Amino acid sequence: MDRRTFLKVAGAIGASAFLGIYHSDISNAIEISKTKIVWIHGAECTGCSESLLNAENPDIVQAIQKLNVDLVYHETLLAQQGIFVDGRLAGTSELNSEILLNDAIEEGGYILVVEGSIANGPNGSGKYCMYGERPFKDIFKKAAENADMILAVGMCATYGGVNAADSAITDLMDFRGVSFLKEDPSKGMLTELGISKPVINVPGCPAHPDWMLLTLAAVILGKIRVPDDLDAVLDKYDRPLVFFPADHTLHDNCPRRGFYDVGKLDTDLSGDGCLWKLGCKGPYTHSDCALRKWNGSVNMCTQAGSPCISCCEPGFPDSSSPFYEEAEDKPVLFGMNADSLAKVGVGTAILAGAAHAVRRIVVDKDDEKEGEV
Ligand code: SF4
Ligand code: SF4
Repeated sequence: MDRRTFLKVAGAIGASAFLGIYHSDISNAIEISKTKIVWIHGAECTGCSESLLNAENPDIVQAIQKLNVDLVYHETLLAQQGIFVDGRLAGTSELNSEILLNDAIEEGGYILVVEGSIANGPNGSGKYCMYGERPFKDIFKKAAENADMILAVGMCATYGGVNAADSAITDLMDFRGVSFLKEDPSKGMLTELGISKPVINVPGCPAHPDWMLLTLAAVILGKIRVPDDLDAVLDKYDRPLVFFPADHTLHDNCPRRGFYDVGKLDTDLSGDGCLWKLGCKGPYTHSDCALRKWNGSVNMCTQAGSPCISCCEPGFPDSSSPFYEEAEDKPVLFGMNADSLAKVGVGTAILAGAAHAVRRIVVDKDDEKEGEV
């Protein structure tokens, strides 16, 4: 019995009768309904995967189990390695990561998570980032074509990040984000390849584990319907508004904000005042770091004494460099009309609901277990 038939029959005869009659088929149906995730890495430091492993509420294992996720491929976490004998792939998908990836892509029907930027250079070949014997650009192309949707995580995959920073070799290397290059959506790799797919961008250097897991959860649970809800829940850079609010900056809720308001502006690191004169870009940064915090909600950059370097804005790192020099005065709120403000309200409400839903599923169940013990 496939999932479609399962749902049809369950609806027709009522859930309890169905449970009695088709009990043995249910586990198969649930197995079929698993959400497959293929997670690929381009040019990056794997910091976003490390950040993912730091997730606490839910953690990565809870999220995979409760959301019924099949993490088909994640090269940092899987045991297989790419094995070549005489230049040819050897073994089976159980032994060889390259065969596993090929099979997963061939099968299709997955959410593609991309970590790391995609080299287009030299001269459009993509050979500045190789995956085994193939340009990562070619693998990304095939994986993107067969994906249901794409989640780009971290600054490199979203907007190019440090790989696309200004330098003498930037044009030669030609690193791209999935659907953007810095603020420019016309230079994303999908446009370069002529592929149209729904994309959600979760930036950050690294991305916060909650931003990644709760966005995935919202999609998997159907709290964000792809592509129907995307216009309402994402900003103009395709970031979830609930984590990157267009009408709010980190500065609004910074633990050091009181010092800014009374003009206690530190000129040396390690003080307890505001970090504005030390280069803090919090007033330009649309992230919820000051509310959500990091490392299990214990601390965050400005609280720990480091100026915010605005690591989730599309122009990073050039737009916030030099990191530790006072920024020129700019309007804190970007130009927003009434229409986009309304969108912010709707989007925030939808994703905030999804975030609550996954926390309830994961945390309440565990609380119940503890109660039983
Ligand atoms: S440390 Fe940065 S974010 Fe915090 S109050 Fe000062 S300028 Fe604003
Ligand atoms: S506080 Fe600023 S630099 Fe730190 S993680 Fe948040 S956006 Fe990035």
